[in-house]
Amino acid sequence: MKIAIYPGSFDPITSGHLNIIRRAANIFDRLIVCVMTNHNKSPMFSREERVALIKKVVEDIDNVEVDSSDDLLAEYARSKGSCVIIKGLRAGSDFENEFQMALINHKINPTLDTMFLTAEHQYMYLSSSTVKELGEYDVDLSDFLPEQIIPDFKRRIAAINQGGNRK
Ligand code: ADP
Repeated sequence: MKIAIYPGSFDPITSGHLNIIRRAANIFDRLIVCVMTNHNKSPMFSREERVALIKKVVEDIDNVEVDSSDDLLAEYARSKGSCVIIKGLRAGSDFENEFQMALINHKINPTLDTMFLTAEHQYMYLSSSTVKELGEYDVDLSDFLPEQIIPDFKRRIAAINQGGNRK
């Protein structure tokens, strides 16, 4: 059984992420979407909330499961019996960093390869941080976020604005 891992911050999951998930799930027997801790980012949603949001949008995809981890990605993949990491590649910005990460992960765990899926053109410039910026305005988010989580996202933006402290 071929198991792939799709790691990321997913703060929150966007339509671009979901597109990669659907495509990867068509290629592999099992896909584990894993919310990883990024020590350089302070998230809008907690790790548990991000996992719950992803679960909501992948409900209909049988071979996808959702997890979270603090481990080093190469070690996490090993523990799951996976030898493939999936990454989405957007225009320009992702390449340098992802290339470096792929080499490092392969060095730490030589059985591990990284497979890149190119972003679909309509999501090429979409990131979670762009969506968070847009959330501050009265913009239709349906091209950017999966429909099921738009209410959760709007509620969180409203709560942050009411409390006056954006995490
Ligand atoms: P973001 O940069 O949006 O905060 P993450 O750290 O959650 O993204 O990204 C997880 C993975 O998803 C990375 O491999 C990233 O390149 C990929 N990804 C993010 N947004 C998109 C998109 N719009 N289309 C394709 N892949 C994407």
